[in-house]
Amino acid sequence: MVAAHTGASVLTRSSVGPILERGNVVNVVLMGPPGAGKGTQAGTVADLVGVTHVASGDLFRELAQQDSELAQLVQAYMNRGDLVPDDLTVAVVMDRLDQPDCQNGFILDGFPRTVGQARALDRRLSEESRRIDQIINLVVPEDTLLARLSGRWLCRRCHSSYHSLFSPPTWPGLCNRCGGTLYQRDDDTLQTAKRRLRVYERDTMPVLDYYRAAERLVDVDGDRPVGEVSEALREAIMTSRMDV
Ligand code: ADP
Ligand code: AMP
Repeated sequence: MVAAHTGASVLTRSSVGPILERGNVVNVVLMGPPGAGKGTQAGTVADLVGVTHVASGDLFRELAQQDSELAQLVQAYMNRGDLVPDDLTVAVVMDRLDQPDCQNGFILDGFPRTVGQARALDRRLSEESRRIDQIINLVVPEDTLLARLSGRWLCRRCHSSYHSLFSPPTWPGLCNRCGGTLYQRDDDTLQTAKRRLRVYERDTMPVLDYYRAAERLVDVDGDRPVGEVSEALREAIMTSRMDV
């Protein structure tokens, strides 16, 4: 069987050295529809660049495990494939970005998903004299997205992403990275996946227009092998602060 994250071997810490050597903080937003490969790529690239991977979906899945009314509310939005309201989402994500491990840089995956969230992110970061250095959009056609979502398996412990056909784990049901148990998300059914893609078109595509209008967006073709996409992301991140 083929190991997941086969692209990881393409990149080494030394190949992203210039960013690390200059001691620059690199804050990246990774955009793309559900199933584009954000989690797969952000985990690998964040490890290599030495920044923190923050996935809003992971934050909400953790929150939903709690025994509270808020947890039930969040779970209901997720089960329907709807977005959690902006106020709560911005509060949860900004609280995470204020943690010490995000001060040296982060890759944001799954946020912002509305123009309101994008504006709040810019405003809140600038209040703290921080900023987003690079915004990357992973481009993948819809039929590929649905095929990816329907075969996705995730690690309960470290959130690594696998696919039953495209990148199966070495040992069925077990995470290559940490040995954790793999599971399939309740919202990865065909029906809910389609709903999430419609929500993406309605609420999140305007965020791409918002960033594109400010010439802040870089498109990366995500419809190729994991390693090739990782390499393209590395290049996009490498160029992000070379002029600073
Ligand atoms: P997202 O975080 O954007 O929703 P994931 O990273 O979880 O997407 O990837 C969705 C599914 O597609 C997973 O099963 C993952 O293993 C698979 N996948 C990710 N990138 C690729 C790729 N380049 N080629 C084939 N399958 C991929
Ligand atoms: P994801 O893991 O990114 O596919 O997100 C799973 C679910 O979490 C989404 O379908 C939403 O219900 C919720 N969610 C994640 N990120 C956001 C966000 N930025 N804004 C609103 N809801 C979100």
